[in-house]
Order: sequence, then C-alpha cells, then structure tokens
Amino acid sequence: MDLLLTRTEEDMLARAVELARNEVAPKAQNWEEERRQPIEALRAASLAGLAGLEVPEHLGGFGGRFRLKARIAEEIARDCFAFSFSLINHMGLAGKIARDAPTEIAEKYLPEMLAGEAIGCTALTEPDAGSDFAAITTLAKKVDGGWVINGEKAWITNAANANLMFLYAQTDPAAGWRGVAGFLIDAREDGVSRVPPFEIMGGHAIGTGGFKLEDHFVPDIRMMSVPGDGFKAAMNSVNAARTYVATMCCGMTEAAIDLAASYASERAAFGGHIADFQGLRWRLADAQTEVEAARLLAYRAVLAVENGTNAELPAAHAKKYAARMADEQLSHCMQVMGAAGLRREYPLGRQIACARIANYVDGTTEIQNERIARALFSKNKKKK
Ligand SMILES: Cc1cc2nc3c(=O)[nH]c(=O)nc-3n(C[C@H](O)[C@H](O)[C@H](O)COP(=O)(O)OP(=O)(O)OC[C@H]3O[C@@H](n4cnc5c(N)ncnc54)[C@H](O)[C@@H]3O)c2cc1C
Repeated sequence: MDLLLTRTEEDMLARAVELARNEVAPKAQNWEEERRQPIEALRAASLAGLAGLEVPEHLGGFGGRFRLKARIAEEIARDCFAFSFSLINHMGLAGKIARDAPTEIAEKYLPEMLAGEAIGCTALTEPDAGSDFAAITTLAKKVDGGWVINGEKAWITNAANANLMFLYAQTDPAAGWRGVAGFLIDAREDGVSRVPPFEIMGGHAIGTGGFKLEDHFVPDIRMMSVPGDGFKAAMNSVNAARTYVATMCCGMTEAAIDLAASYASERAAFGGHIADFQGLRWRLADAQTEVEAARLLAYRAVLAVENGTNAELPAAHAKKYAARMADEQLSHCMQVMGAAGLRREYPLGRQIACARIANYVDGTTEIQNERIARALFSKNKKKK
C-alpha cells in the first residue's frame, strides 16, 4: 500500500524533505545537547509553507490532505522525531483554527501562525490528569461576554515557545466529560504564565512544558468546542495524532536501519565485514519487515482519518504497533553497530529516547490496548 500524492503534494513533500536534510539533520543533536526547542527552525519550516499545510488556500495555506501531513511527519522524523512532532503540533492548531474558528478569529491569528511568529499547541494534560483526560480540573466559569479560566496544564508540546493554545477545560465538574469545552487561548494576554520547559531524557526539540491560567478571561467567540463537544473533539483529533505518531516511528526506525546497514557494510571484522554475518543481516532484515508491517497499519489509519470513517481502532492498532516496534528495533540497530552506536555522531541514543516518548504521547501504549480490548470484548458480548 502506498499513499499516492498529487504532483503539487509531491512538490510540497520534496520541500519538507529538503528542509529536513538541510536544516534539521545537521542540527538535531545540538538542539538536544543545548536542551532547547529550535524556534528558528520552526519559523523556517512555517515560512516554507509547512505551518499552513492543512489551511485552505483562501486563508493563505496549502490545503493539503491528511496523507500529506502523515508523509511529511514520517520524512522529517527520519532526521529528528522531536522536531517533526513539534512542527506537526503547530501545523495542527493552524488547521484547527482554519476549520473551526469564526472567520474574524482565523483572519486575526492565521497570518502570524503561517509566518511562524506565533507557535501553536494543544493542551489537554494536567499535572494530575494524564491518561484519565475526563478528570481534568482546569475550570472555565461563565461570565458576561466570555469565560474566566483557572488551572494548570503540563507536558504540552511547544509550550516553551507557544503563544496560541487550544485548551480543554471543565465547565461543569458535575457533568464529567460532558462538561469539557475547548477554547483558543492567546498566551500573550493577562492571566497566562509559562511553566519553565521540562528537562527530559531526549526530545528537547519538542519544547515540552506547561502553562498556568489565573483568572484568565477568554471571550465567547474563542470557545471553539462547546461543552460536550470538547471531549468528542479531543477524541477525534487524537486519532489523527496517533496516526502520524505511527508514521513518524516508521520514518525514524527506517533511518536507523539504513544507518546500521551502511555501518555494517563498512565495519571490518574476521577478514570481512560484519554485514557478512547472516545473524546480523537477518536482524536488520527482520527490523525492516517490522517497519513494513507498522507502515501498513499506519497508512490504513491515514486513509480512515482522511475518509472520515471511524479511525479509533485503526489508529490505536497503528500507534501501539509502531511505538513498540520503534522501541525494539532501534535497540537492535544500536546492537548491530557495537559500541559505535553509542557515539554522539550517531542519532541512535536520541532516537531510542524518542521511541519511549512515542509510547506516551497522544495516549500511552496501554491506553491503545484499552481501546482495542474494549471493542474486542463488546463485540464478543453482543454475540452471546
Ligand atoms: C514529550 C511529550 C509531549 C507531550 N505533549 C502533549 C501535548 O502537546 N498536549 C497534551 O495535552 N499532552 C501532552 N503530553 C502528555 C501525554 O499525553 C501524557 O503523558 C499521556 O496522556 C499519559 O499521561 P501520564 O504521562 O500522566 O501517565 P499516567 O496517566 O499517569 O499513566 C501512568 C501509567 O499508567 C498507565 N495507565 C493509566 N491508565 C491506565 C489504564 N486505564 N489501563 C492500563 N494502564 C493505564 C499508563 O499507560 C502509564 O503507563 C506529552 C507527553 C510527553 C512525554
């Protein structure tokens, strides 16, 4: 299965690949060592047209299909999973504003997002609510003309530099998930402060951090999902997110296999090269088969998301398989390279950390299994 692209989509993908090879690959390790998010690279990618990938042309964007986003995420992740994830999250908010916000809001915020002057993020997670998203306590209270929001968000991609945030908040704690609504927050306004970015094991280019909201007023016009729809909107967008995380795992792992194969072909041992040993060749061949299998699941999920059919299960299978696959196969690639695989000049340590990240973001691997098990057991119950 391949995701066929139009000529203009192919050109956009080529532009993204060029940016990745020239602006991302040579710098990714430095970003990690400097423990910082490369805001200049996000701006460059935005100016190259990537921020507006899902924004329609009449609003200044490219109007690309979901398959193009998934392919771009996959290609950039070959060079830096963390940067790819950050860019895709920025792109995602621009697309959401174009799709769901009133025209005056879209016209106000999209130009600065497409120029990379305002970076976007999406905030569900809180210090005390991760997998159990319905348990969020950030509270939105209705007042004249808008809402007053209090609470804290944690583990938010791009929070180190983001100015615009799609924030999920509870409007009625007694209503549980039915009370969750979604707001577009401008973090430059009063009552929003940034929590210093988190120091984590790898993946600093993601710019993970948080925000505190203290009596922050947001006008009615920036409530983009009404109570009840907020939870459903989050669940729908998370299917797309799980899907591109799966394609990113494929890109990152395949790049590591290519590196290990090339290293093994050059590394001399016992009168030949280590690539001559069948056990080692087969290890990489198995890794490649795993990538192919993960990619099939991922592309199937891409088509489900793009066609608007129920993508919950395809996305859950794809993300679970791809994140586990990256976890396992990246360490095999490192093993093939012997001690050299640990060296700074190779990206494997960074990639292994990012494979761990892939097992948490947009729902952990266990949560994907919960989705799959729920469907499995309800199907079997109905049969009885
Ligand atoms: C780099 C990075 C970027 C992120 N970016 C964002 C972002 O942009 N926006 C955002 O809102 N969030 C973001 N997150 C947060 C991410 O979505 C959460 O980490 C994730 O939802 C899991 O929550 P948690 O880490 O609090 O784990 P917990 O919910 O505390 O879970 C801990 C462990 O318990 C397991 N567990 C929990 N519930 C169940 C269950 N029902 N059955 C079986 N096992 C269970 C989990 O799988 C996990 O292994 C990011 C996280 C990281 C690491």
